[in-house]
Amino acid sequence: MKLLAAYAHPADAITDCGGTLALHVARGDEVTILSMTHGGRIHPNIYEEEWRKANPEQAIVQLTRQEIIDVKRRELERAAHILGIERIIALDQEDDGVAVERETVERVARIIADVAPDMILMDYPMNAAMPDPHTVASITLLTALRQVGMYLRNLDGRHATTVKQVFFTKLPVTTRDVLSLGGLRNDLFVDITSVVGLKIAAMDQFVSQGYNGNFARKLIESWNGEQGRTAGVNFAEGFCRMYNETYSHLPVTEYAMKFDHLTNHRSYSEMNVRAQFPALD
Ligand SMILES: [Zn+2]
Repeated sequence: MKLLAAYAHPADAITDCGGTLALHVARGDEVTILSMTHGGRIHPNIYEEEWRKANPEQAIVQLTRQEIIDVKRRELERAAHILGIERIIALDQEDDGVAVERETVERVARIIADVAPDMILMDYPMNAAMPDPHTVASITLLTALRQVGMYLRNLDGRHATTVKQVFFTKLPVTTRDVLSLGGLRNDLFVDITSVVGLKIAAMDQFVSQGYNGNFARKLIESWNGEQGRTAGVNFAEGFCRMYNETYSHLPVTEYAMKFDHLTNHRSYSEMNVRAQFPALD
């Protein structure tokens, strides 16, 4: 299968679904990361922290726009490499953008047509009224998805591309949220326990935005840990599907078949990521 993980900022694909991507690479699937913006302005932690010092390091506070962008790019390349991903497409859009632009939609549509993914992973477009870069990225992607689905060779020189599924991330965790959120919730989880060390090592690369060290471990423990608790495993990543799916019979997963709620507290708490993958700083 071909997967396209398309997110607003360089670190997003790793934090949202890096474990899942590593598992797909391991089973021989082709994974591409599309970073919609250069991410130079989001979480500029090392720069802001340096500016607050009495004698800031000139090598850090004098970095140019392009150098800051290059730092982020290299961090993403190193993180992706750890997960086994070498295909990275960087749109390098400004990350202070607030609008969906036709030119970007058309650019993204051509990328989707070229990559021809079976599935796209992206943020759920939380609130279209908010000028949030993740929402802008996902609405751009969904509009582009509609465009490639309407490609006509007479008009566009190429046939339509059909993407089989869109998996949304960043939604609330529990399935029971369906009762309070009008159906908006994760509807499937991927068990990332076997690759959680890889995800931590990948997040350790995002030093310029402070995602390394204890931050990475805390995020995995709290976010993927809570999703894991819901999924009945140590660590998980949650998704919500855009399209309904058709089966030849009613599905029950292998995880559901072997799940035992009386012993689940043991399997859930078998792993201590801070002990197993200690921060180096
Ligand atoms: Zn982001």
